[in-house]
Amino acid sequence: ARFGSGHVRQSSRLLRPYNPATDTSPFAQAQVVDAGDMAVNPFDIGEAIEAIQQDATDLTEDGSSLMTIGGDHTIALPLLRAASARAGEPVALLHFDAHLDTWDTYFGAEYTHGTPFRRAFEEGLIDSSGVCHVGTRGPLYGTQDLEDDARFGFGVVTSNDVMRMGVDEVVGFLRERVGDRPLYVSLDIDVLDPAHAPGTGTPEPGGLTSRELLEILRGLRGTNLIGADVVEVAPPYDHAELTGLAAANVVYEYMSLLALGADAAPGGPAYGESGTVYGAQR
Ligand code: MN
Ligand code: MN
Repeated sequence: ARFGSGHVRQSSRLLRPYNPATDTSPFAQAQVVDAGDMAVNPFDIGEAIEAIQQDATDLTEDGSSLMTIGGDHTIALPLLRAASARAGEPVALLHFDAHLDTWDTYFGAEYTHGTPFRRAFEEGLIDSSGVCHVGTRGPLYGTQDLEDDARFGFGVVTSNDVMRMGVDEVVGFLRERVGDRPLYVSLDIDVLDPAHAPGTGTPEPGGLTSRELLEILRGLRGTNLIGADVVEVAPPYDHAELTGLAAANVVYEYMSLLALGADAAPGGPAYGESGTVYGAQR
């Protein structure tokens, strides 16, 4: 997954400047820059986590918003440390993932891609009243996993919930949950079905389509988004850039949300007025 960022950059070449789904031109409406790769120690996870936290702090101290392309999901912890420090309070968190990532340890290790959100809870980085998983599915180690997760405050919109509720109802639920709190979005690309994102380390059948995912993200317009990541893109397992393209479009929707800003009305774009049905569903 350490090669994910380069792969997503390559896949982003197919993006175009105007996003009709949200009526935004993110690169025209906001100053956007690729800040390059963070240099981290591949042999010392603790040192790597500290380097990411420092880089994220430096990149956002002028008020910029940071979107990070990973990479192993471990990076969400130092990114949340920087985001909550900048916000000056625990942040709301929407976590798109097939997995809970609130486990305690993996093989005795506390800092892994399966544990960042338990650590974030313990460190007081996230506001338990405004946190939710989306797209969860697949087998667990036991019922204790869910009991622990609920104790940390997480709501759960499973992958099957998305199917049964539909995108608009999911969006309504998530918006109510996060309210106007500072919001961080962490998105593990394995939230998508392996058919839509095969290039990842822990694929789980029964996931979201890229259409559902992108539309749920668009539904977050006007929330107080302050930072986001997309992680776990593993190019050696990708085919036809399916995963890279999905991740690049996720980042494009993040950019569109940030370009719209927290003042944007929650509804869809103004397309309905022009007589088309483009985006008029909300
Ligand atoms: Mn996952
Ligand atoms: Mn994950």
